Amino acid sequence: MGCDLFSLATEGVQGLHPYQPGKPIEELERELGITNIVKLASNENPLGPSPKALNAIELAFQELCRYPDGGGFKLKTALCERYNTQIDQVTLGNGSNDLLEIIARVFADKQSEIVFSQYAFAVYPLVTQSIGAKAVEVPAVDWGHDLVAMAEAINDRTKLVFIANPNNPTGTYVSKSDLIRFLDAVPQRVIVVLDEAYCEYIGGSHQDFPDGVSLLTSYPNLIVTRTFSKAWGLASLRVGYALSHPDVADLLNRVRQPFNVDTFALEAATAVLADDEYLELSRKTNLDGMQALTSGFERMGVDYIPSVGNFVTFDTGRDAIAVYQSLLAQGVIVRPVANYGMTQHLRVSIGLPEENARFLKALAEVLGK
Ligand code: PMP
Repeated sequence: MGCDLFSLATEGVQGLHPYQPGKPIEELERELGITNIVKLASNENPLGPSPKALNAIELAFQELCRYPDGGGFKLKTALCERYNTQIDQVTLGNGSNDLLEIIARVFADKQSEIVFSQYAFAVYPLVTQSIGAKAVEVPAVDWGHDLVAMAEAINDRTKLVFIANPNNPTGTYVSKSDLIRFLDAVPQRVIVVLDEAYCEYIGGSHQDFPDGVSLLTSYPNLIVTRTFSKAWGLASLRVGYALSHPDVADLLNRVRQPFNVDTFALEAATAVLADDEYLELSRKTNLDGMQALTSGFERMGVDYIPSVGNFVTFDTGRDAIAVYQSLLAQGVIVRPVANYGMTQHLRVSIGLPEENARFLKALAEVLGK
């Protein structure tokens, strides 16, 4: 008999549950015998990519045989111009998930504790577990972060705190005053990660929503992570970035793989940053879609968690997996959130008007409303 290969992995990795990717749409369509599936499951941008991004990708084909720019100079410069930061404050990631993992590896180990909220983004427990650190999950208040309790959960072993703002899957957000009070209470030896994957959807509609980047000069222990996967519409290309104190960026860049963002991603992200028209359309489509979905829920008497993201999580009032399956049978894919301990809820991403209408019609039928 050979050795038990599973036991060769670290304890942290042995405890991991592999990420379960959804089936490809073509495969589902074949299985279900239908052809026009609507996917509202991954908080993607329903608009399709920006023409500026497509054009940049076409030009980048000429560089296919070359390694990408490992320093990401053009994209970093464009980010700095847009967000008024310095180039040595930027770290690029293969999606922002890559950065969350790099941050955990740089600052925490088996002896560490990492604090995050109940119902916080699923990757935080995952990266915590993978490095063998202890996850400290703080109970949520009204589905959102309890920043007072999170500050109280910090002890000598705490190395990191993750805060998603807005949060996925609840769509809640922490206000500027609450965040500042929290940052003032946290010792500077603890790194605070403010994950702003959905921040572009806010667009001035909530005056009390904090702009993490503006807080960087006051809090050297703060890291802001963002992504091109959502409002910028480039989920497939896997590109995100972290903004931080230059000393923190230096540490992150030591661990980052030298070519973690490919040429297509670098070029497309640089191009889309100059496409404010696309961003505005993303926001408008999202706001209108959110309005359509929440009005639909209200008409049906379905409870939902008010969201500032590009998704909304609603209470099916019964076993959510059964509702998920019935929606799927009608060709509408949404996201179960049982892995967050929310067994009666489902999360639906905002789609195009016709997709939102398909979802609402299917839900009304499934729930008998
Ligand atoms: N943070 C949050 C809160 C998210 O919901 C997501 C995407 N689901 C990410 C980070 C990661 O996005 P990406 O890796 O595509 O940048």
